[in-house]
Amino acid sequence: MLSHNVSGNTKQLVLLGAGAREHALATKLRQDGATVHVLPGNAGIPGSVPAISATDFAAIKAFCEAQQVKLIVVGPEAPLAAGVADYFLDTDIRVFGPRRQAATLESSKVWSKDFMRRHGIATARAWSYRSDRLAEAQAKVEELAGQVVVKYDGLAAGKGVYVCNSVAEATAALTELRSLHEGWFSVLLEEKLTGPEVSLIGLTDGVEIRLLAPAQDHKQLLANDEGPNTGGMGAYCPVPFLDDNWLAAIRRDIIDPTLRGLQTEPFDFVGFLYFGVMLTPDGPKLLEYNVRLGDPEAEVILPALETSLLELITATLDGNLAQTLVRQRPGAFVGLVLASGGYPAAEFPTGFPIHGLSSQGASTQVFVGGVKAGAHPGELLTNGGRVAVLVSHGPDLPTAVQLAYAEVELVYFQDKYVRPDIGQRPSPQLATSAY
Ligand code: AMP
Repeated sequence: MLSHNVSGNTKQLVLLGAGAREHALATKLRQDGATVHVLPGNAGIPGSVPAISATDFAAIKAFCEAQQVKLIVVGPEAPLAAGVADYFLDTDIRVFGPRRQAATLESSKVWSKDFMRRHGIATARAWSYRSDRLAEAQAKVEELAGQVVVKYDGLAAGKGVYVCNSVAEATAALTELRSLHEGWFSVLLEEKLTGPEVSLIGLTDGVEIRLLAPAQDHKQLLANDEGPNTGGMGAYCPVPFLDDNWLAAIRRDIIDPTLRGLQTEPFDFVGFLYFGVMLTPDGPKLLEYNVRLGDPEAEVILPALETSLLELITATLDGNLAQTLVRQRPGAFVGLVLASGGYPAAEFPTGFPIHGLSSQGASTQVFVGGVKAGAHPGELLTNGGRVAVLVSHGPDLPTAVQLAYAEVELVYFQDKYVRPDIGQRPSPQLATSAY
């Protein structure tokens, strides 16, 4: 048994993951005074340990024991869905992230919708069908005149949600799902809602929650929300039109009933909880939970956080959130994703040298994701769809946007693509009667 000496304190931690989100997490946790080992990390994140994958729990445990690390912070969903929190349950190593059962809130849309229904959480009406009963789904599509969202029940690498405008589109979505998936699967049909979307992310022990800055993601590849869906092309925070009344309605109709649900069911939820919310004319509605920080939301929310994240994580694990306040830095934060040309198609060229990653001013940070080491010391090459996220801070949103787009010109790689209108959506007309 290792002793709890100085080097075994929670100022040393393991962070699981390999993307720009983990770069932002590692940067913030280091500012908070932690020594951070990133497993596996990537060639651009200091402290990366490329030999250990984020789902190789035995290797992670051996690493923690050798380094006397007592805290693991989890970035992506995969290690949570694979049970990393369950694996370390009877050890003296604490995991900041929910157990496998609670990760189902994200990994199964049918299960998640049932949880929302059981606990009276405001959400779109929905119907689920097993793949042998898609004829019934088709009848429901016709009843709703095709104004539906068709969702595959499971992790689908971004290909699982079809927002439809007609019976023909919804029929095509059902046909495509049938051709893509063999064996049994389930489909969730939802009524189609309208309104702007916001991402609210908090740290919770299942009883208390502390929300970080509200953010907005931009999922589609092209300007004006056109083109295919991606993992996210940019984000900003805070969200100017999310006023106190909307926030109060989200708490009352979504967050508080979620916490009551988490306490009713045997989850022992600890970790980040993400609420994807649509502000509809009938009030806020929950579209989805994630059991982790969003990406690219994390890249703007973490630089905006003035409070120590390390202290927030420790307070959550200790059940001390009630005594903890969250302070945000003033101003606005805008994150632009630097993508490889061709993304999000299945294949596109990569391996191009990246230049200018350290040319930005003091109000800008670059977090790297899809990168690998080049032949020369310090050289990074593109190695994925979302290569990096550049984040600028300004006194207000338009100034931050302007700075981010100026700074992003200083980073160059072949076929670089940056969506041109991040943080520039016109302020939506919101129905104030909705809350
Ligand atoms: P999800 O993975 O369930 O959050 O869905 C992905 C995206 O599809 C959301 O961010 C929304 O833009 C859209 N979406 C999901 N559900 C609905 C709905 N009921 N009505 C309208 N759009 C939706």
